[in-house]
Amino acid sequence: MAEYDAVFIGSGINSLAGGALLAKAGWNVCVLERNDCLGGAIKTSTDLTAPGFTHEVFSSWHPLFAGSAAYGELADDLHRNGLEYLNTELPTGSVFPDGSSAFLTTSLEGNVAELDRHAAGDGAAWERQFNEFMANADLSFGVLGVELWSGQGLSLGIKAYRRLGARGLLEFTGRGLATCRDWVTATFHSDQAHGLLAPWVLHTGLGPDNAVSGFMTQVIACAVQLGGMPVPRGGGVTLVDALATVIRSAGGELRTGADVERILVSGGRATAVRLSSGETVTAGQAVIASVTPTQLYGRLLAEWEVPRAAWESARRFRYGRAGMQIHIAMDELPQWRGDERLPRTAIVHLTPGLDGVSRAVNEAERGLLPAEATIVAGQPCAVDPSRAPEGKWIVWIQLQELPAGRVRGDAAGQIDVGDGTWTETLREAYADRIIVRLGQQITNLERSILKRVVLSPADIEALDCNLVGGDIYAGSCALDQNLLWRPFPRSPGHATAVGGLYLIGASTHPGPGLGAGSGYLVAKELTKPPLPKRLLARLPGRR
Ligand SMILES: Cc1cc2nc3c(=O)[nH]c(=O)nc-3n(C[C@H](O)[C@H](O)[C@H](O)COP(=O)(O)OP(=O)(O)OC[C@H]3O[C@@H](n4cnc5c(N)ncnc54)[C@H](O)[C@@H]3O)c2cc1C
Repeated sequence: MAEYDAVFIGSGINSLAGGALLAKAGWNVCVLERNDCLGGAIKTSTDLTAPGFTHEVFSSWHPLFAGSAAYGELADDLHRNGLEYLNTELPTGSVFPDGSSAFLTTSLEGNVAELDRHAAGDGAAWERQFNEFMANADLSFGVLGVELWSGQGLSLGIKAYRRLGARGLLEFTGRGLATCRDWVTATFHSDQAHGLLAPWVLHTGLGPDNAVSGFMTQVIACAVQLGGMPVPRGGGVTLVDALATVIRSAGGELRTGADVERILVSGGRATAVRLSSGETVTAGQAVIASVTPTQLYGRLLAEWEVPRAAWESARRFRYGRAGMQIHIAMDELPQWRGDERLPRTAIVHLTPGLDGVSRAVNEAERGLLPAEATIVAGQPCAVDPSRAPEGKWIVWIQLQELPAGRVRGDAAGQIDVGDGTWTETLREAYADRIIVRLGQQITNLERSILKRVVLSPADIEALDCNLVGGDIYAGSCALDQNLLWRPFPRSPGHATAVGGLYLIGASTHPGPGLGAGSGYLVAKELTKPPLPKRLLARLPGRR
């Protein structure tokens, strides 16, 4: 029976970052992963398409990790162990059906000029909104960076109250609830500005007509200007390897092919986990599960081990829209129609604009394949040329507007969806639609495809069981399941009703993405000094 201080279930970014922080604090850590490789939704592959091409099968872009508290603490160790971030001044743009486009760069002046190009005055509007956002950026980023149901969350609220006053705080919060549509249309005149910003809300799991989507769009837009679109040289695997090395160097262990089937509870505390092989791994201090609430309460714990209300709440946890990935190896460099900046831009959204995003989200939510989806065309080679042989190119395509569950029909009335399950025929037929549309903008796309690999929602779930139904964000991010309410109101945050058992990962606050927020928060909670020591540290003259 192996024995550790902390056992992590799953090896996604939250477990790896949390494990590295605990290991550095002297904890004996074990990470157990059911798949045959570490990293969860960070999966770099050199044999997906053609020789010489390095693909990010799932996540590709690291602004969240590069801006995270975990990176802030671990950067030196990670760099020593091979991680290097590359970046670009052209993080994103949108291209519209008529071939026109708009860009968001890392320069405030550049963005002012770009937005003014589409409508005089929009540049000043951007500068104003950016400065307003930055004046309270500590509060906005704080909401996404602290344990909201804790003393930390309370301190953040008090800080906001002291700075803004009661009415100011009410206004700040009320504005935070606005939709992306209301925010972009009230702030900018041009359709291009709306179409530049609206697709970003998809990357937070929301749609442009959802509550809080205005706040999320602002956070992303400002973060992109401040931080660009970093990627690790050689792929996300270098981050996974570096984090694993930090854990191993401190004496910890990471095991693949280790499916945890049960958390063992004794006297109301999680004391160990049992693997499908029958082996038991004990945890002296904590079991930290990076799984979905449905797996935690429906498989890993027995019904009688948790309060009925929490169990019922977990059962009601909802999954959101599904995603699809299309990986393309091109034999040539892309020839984009229109602006010469397009081939140099990390992430290009192909969209008819704000209403187009709204329509596609609505179609997906009604169970339909969207007629005109928002195409996220990622170009990793624009930031890291090592990803493809010279003169060749990769397009990383992400589609975030697909039905959760069975497909009921095609909004365009062209594809026969059969019984609505993701067969190979349905998957490829939908991918064909996307490639034809993208081919209208990248004129040499279709003729230069060396190989394309498509992952349907079903394929995505098969590769990472936390992505239930192909929901790439591991749980709907609608407001009633987000922020204060994530993963669910009966057990918000990360501590659970079982002593020593913590739930982390994309299903928990601060939600999906590579920010490692939940792993960081739990590691900090577990290693915080005892209360008397913390109180002493606050005395005047003490640091
Ligand atoms: C297609 C796609 C593209 C994305 N693109 C980006 C991007 O570019 N930038 C970004 O910031 N975010 C992106 N995201 C989101 C981000 O990648 C995820 O939110 C994040 O990686 C999730 O990390 P996690 O810690 O929750 O765990 P995950 O990465 O989901 O890993 C969980 C791991 O736990 C394992 N596991 C589950 N149950 C058990 C068990 N019982 N026993 C053992 N192991 C178990 C699973 O096998 C899995 O490996 C993307 C996500 C997807 C799917």
